[in-house]
Amino acid sequence: MISSEEIKAFAKKCGADIVGIGSMDRFDGAPRQYDPRYIMPEAKSIIGLGFRIHRGLLRGIEEGTFFAAYPSMGYANINDVYAPIVLREVGNLLEDNGYEAFLFQNTSVRLGSGIGKPVSPDKPKPDVFMHFRIAAVICGMGELGYSNLFLSPEFGPRQRLAFIITDAELEPDPIYNGPPLCDYCMSCVRECPAGAISEKNQISVTISGKTFVIGKLDELKCSAVYQAGTSEYSPFISEEVASVINSIVSQGDNEEKLVSYEGNIWNYLRENVPYIKRCWESYHHPAAICGARGCIRACMIHLEESRKIKNIFKSPFRRREPWRL
Ligand code: SF4
Ligand code: SF4
Repeated sequence: MISSEEIKAFAKKCGADIVGIGSMDRFDGAPRQYDPRYIMPEAKSIIGLGFRIHRGLLRGIEEGTFFAAYPSMGYANINDVYAPIVLREVGNLLEDNGYEAFLFQNTSVRLGSGIGKPVSPDKPKPDVFMHFRIAAVICGMGELGYSNLFLSPEFGPRQRLAFIITDAELEPDPIYNGPPLCDYCMSCVRECPAGAISEKNQISVTISGKTFVIGKLDELKCSAVYQAGTSEYSPFISEEVASVINSIVSQGDNEEKLVSYEGNIWNYLRENVPYIKRCWESYHHPAAICGARGCIRACMIHLEESRKIKNIFKSPFRRREPWRL
């Protein structure tokens, strides 16, 4: 029987920065459509792998001079190139020992999840997807921040995730019980240019007995601004696109959404912002012009300053007054 320690050491040798293991019963209460036990009913364990986003990949956006590094090397490369290689190696180890390994890559394919017909009444619609940030908590790798992002004690919000579901019964890590990482400083709320993370509307999420309070995320606002930025924080959008973005950002939480982008902000931005179109064509990923200004950059600055994370640098990240158009 292969041990949890062997798997973790091997995954790190292959290139994972952080590794944790959870048991499948920790998914009790998950909605069917997001419950990975429907993918592998005999699964016993889930192995979580975390891959750092290099802080330097956010530098060009912070300085306002190079926006492509973060979405290419900080998103597409990790999710579509590097993590799958590590998943494959760790999967080989499991299958060489006689256990199935379902390799769960983080891709934009999730946008098409749940669109098929159930193959029988007792099953959810394919493709079943899994909430990656919750799965990372289940693997004991860290906690959910108020921003909705997963925070690890190593990198705070600055990692991407991938998972292996297996029928190997592995010793699970405890749910993270180290010093709390999120202290509700609300920097993520204040610095999100979309105003997408609500300060007032909060949601409680309980995972394996541990409750996290997160801000309600306006997904439309984030989808628009995450890709395109706003007129103040994007050098790449026309006045017409800026006015569509501004109309989305200025809507209240419960207002009916405008239809000036014909209901599909992803297609609208891809068709109307050449920079975003070229990002999709080049590496099949959104442009991420926002550079996660609130949910990653502001949070990371706060967690570094308060020394709550281990990956600390010789110089602070923010060295100048942030630019604004
Ligand atoms: S910025 Fe502050 S409130 Fe937001 S997730 Fe990070 S620590 Fe929590
Ligand atoms: S990606 Fe940008 S728009 Fe979305 S929540 Fe983070 S800071 Fe806000």
